[in-house]
Amino acid sequence: MRLSRYFLPTLKETPKEAEIVSHRLMLRAAMIKQQSAGSYSWLPLGYKILRKVQNIIEEEQNRAGAIELLMPTLQPAELWRESGRYDAYGKEMLRISDRSGREMVYGPTNEEMITDIFRASVKSYKELPLNLYHIQWKFRDEIRPRFGTMRSREFLMKDAYSFDLDKKTAIASYNRMFVAYLRTFYRLGIPAIPMRAETGPIGGNLSHEFIVLAETGESKVYCHADLLEKPIPALDTDFDADLAPIVNDWTSLFAATEDVVDKDEFERQVPKEKQIFARGIEVGQTFYFGDKYSKPMGATLTNERGEEVAVHSGSYGIGLTRVVPAIIEANHDENGIIWPVSVAPFELIILNLKMGDKDCDKACEEIYEQLLNANIDVLYDDSEKGAGAKFANADLIGIPLQIIVGPKNIKNNEVELKNRKTAERELFSLSEIINKVVSIIEPLRMNKV
Ligand code: ATP
Ligand code: MG
Repeated sequence: MRLSRYFLPTLKETPKEAEIVSHRLMLRAAMIKQQSAGSYSWLPLGYKILRKVQNIIEEEQNRAGAIELLMPTLQPAELWRESGRYDAYGKEMLRISDRSGREMVYGPTNEEMITDIFRASVKSYKELPLNLYHIQWKFRDEIRPRFGTMRSREFLMKDAYSFDLDKKTAIASYNRMFVAYLRTFYRLGIPAIPMRAETGPIGGNLSHEFIVLAETGESKVYCHADLLEKPIPALDTDFDADLAPIVNDWTSLFAATEDVVDKDEFERQVPKEKQIFARGIEVGQTFYFGDKYSKPMGATLTNERGEEVAVHSGSYGIGLTRVVPAIIEANHDENGIIWPVSVAPFELIILNLKMGDKDCDKACEEIYEQLLNANIDVLYDDSEKGAGAKFANADLIGIPLQIIVGPKNIKNNEVELKNRKTAERELFSLSEIINKVVSIIEPLRMNKV
């Protein structure tokens, strides 16, 4: 992409309304634009990041055996009356009626609708286990939308739903999602710690919130420091195997959100030097709730003995539009964002410090072409701005690598390669630079797991 033809209306001034760094940077880097309270457009740069986040989530969901579909945003109120949640959900649920007076809701979550899909076609235990997920916009009429897309009213969520014959197999399904979440958040550049959590309006009695530690987080959490060092399950993890040992390993150390914690127990169980009492951002949550929806909604199956039983379920959410600011909270400095390569809107930016200089223009065009051929996601800053403005912009939007092409170095057939994170700069000849870039970027795409 050439910057001169892109749409990147960055802001010079720091917007006053933004209280936390990720919100400020998302506005300044022209990733989002607010349309009304708690509702945002995703501008091209932001949308590109959101799509990369989506890809990683889909890859890991698919790897864990979940199957993607797509349900509508508007749901009939009838389904919610069947589960009893139409009244229970309260004011957070946006209720609408159509021209014939039929009541609808803008889905805040999809347990009811997926249970309806399930009961319409699955009749036998032989078709289990089944895990269906979608990535769709949700609406929750939050009392206090704030921090940009971190807590908005309309937000994009991945929600998966598992169906099993009994509790034992349902826990195995829960474990698959648990392990997939560890991998997903790691690859997104925000290793998240699973913590025992309250179940809220989703219900059930087994639940973990996946929390990224950050000062600006809205949750208060207690956890054991060794959880920060635990190895992430590897790419070759066999999701058909028993994953309980991995889950047990991660859940044997103390980690819980404030709502469920007993502070004395925490202080008794965790040695003083290992105690972390901190704030965090909830980026995902997993629930096992058994037959909470299947029973009232009649989602039953025949088991091996020919008996009719209610199916056991869980649900598993990740807020994509919250993940993006969470990544920024964890990856930035005073000059701007520092994207992990796995989600960077562009992997590399070429800065032509002297547009119109024959040698600079020629070198930039060649590098640009070669990088495209090498499958590097590259942005070429071919704007007429001065060097200082180009450096500042590249740092602000957080592209992991910069190739700096200036009139002095190019006389020796050299360009500079700058690493956004470490700020290291090194000179390379035009003949070396492409291979060098590829060798740096390729291993980082998977974020090392
Ligand atoms: P919170 O406690 O932050 O209000 P929640 O527990 O109500 O969230 P869940 O029902 O667990 O949310 O939804 C799954 C995921 O969806 C959350 O872990 C979070 O990443 C995301 N999410 C929930 N509410 C919002 C929101 N208002 N804005 C952005 N993302 C959200
Ligand atoms: Mg939650």
